[in-house]
Amino acid sequence: KLYNQVQDLKGSIRVYCRVRPFLPGQLSGNTLGSIDEGSITIVTPSKYGKEGRRSFNFNKVFGPSSSQEEVFSDTQPLVRSILDGYNVCIFAYGQTGSGKTYTMSGPKLLNEQTVGVNYRALSDLFKLSEQRRGIFSYEISVQMIEIYNEQVRDLLVGDGLSKKLEIRNNSQKGLNVPNANLVPVTSTSDVIELMNIGQRNRVVGATALNDRSSRSHSCLTVHVQGKDMTSGTILRGCLHLVDLAGSERVDKSEVTGERLKEAQHINKSLSALGDVISALALKNSHVPYRNSKLTQLLQDSLGGQAKTLMFVHISPEMDAIGETLSTLKFAERVS
Ligand code: ADP
Ligand code: MG
Repeated sequence: KLYNQVQDLKGSIRVYCRVRPFLPGQLSGNTLGSIDEGSITIVTPSKYGKEGRRSFNFNKVFGPSSSQEEVFSDTQPLVRSILDGYNVCIFAYGQTGSGKTYTMSGPKLLNEQTVGVNYRALSDLFKLSEQRRGIFSYEISVQMIEIYNEQVRDLLVGDGLSKKLEIRNNSQKGLNVPNANLVPVTSTSDVIELMNIGQRNRVVGATALNDRSSRSHSCLTVHVQGKDMTSGTILRGCLHLVDLAGSERVDKSEVTGERLKEAQHINKSLSALGDVISALALKNSHVPYRNSKLTQLLQDSLGGQAKTLMFVHISPEMDAIGETLSTLKFAERVS
């Protein structure tokens, strides 16, 4: 039954746009023209005194007042499909401050209403696997890694000081980072505990002026192994939940040293991701997975039978217009 539901989700790449609400104290003007189910119009100030309007189409647009629950409800069928052996990638893309972490994890104050996609996905997987008990027997486990300056590190190590890890594709059990901790989970409280550890480790090495979380990609991977109780067949699926580094362009004339290196790595990996997704969307025969650690890591879960969902995030305020337009153009290219 679920299988059919997934087949109904047309195409393997979906792009959703989410607009963050204005935050308290934000005073600059509003760039939002109109929003409907599948399109958004941005009002751009013009040098010539006349304002311009540009529309962008998406599989879905979530306006500033949409709730975490609404955002998840469209994602749920994809998440569930991993119990049927599919691989799924869900990305959060956008400039720093546009709401990526809010969508994936939630705000600082978490409660039942505010928890994000990560928690909802796992809690739904537990619920559904429980419902299928007797028909399937599932084992669910998670990994959490970070890619910073093209280096892969484990976020689930005690002291937060993971050594560099290698990526291996086509491994037997679908583990692309075989040396990262793989932690079995059976309840949502297990998951919350792990997410907290991962979050804490992401902050290690960051200084007050140097919020590393906006300049690294973090990936929570949920591995599922299901055994069909009648035939004994084993199904494997995995879900990658990726909070990407901020997509903002850094002015090369203003940054040097470490900051410039970070910016170049981010730039390179986000364009590599864009190239892979647009090659898949265009059904190109060559898909350039090898150009970044991020695309290498996700190679088995991008393309083929796998499903991809990209949430592109934009901020509504006029101050962000430059980044908003470049985010929307990126999204247009991959959809
Ligand atoms: P990013 O991860 O893209 O840098 P955050 O998720 O940290 O951005 O969001 C920046 C700020 O905006 C945070 O304070 C966050 O709680 C708030 N925020 C983001 N999206 C929403 C939303 N949809 N509703 C309410 N607040 C939001
Ligand atoms: Mg963030």
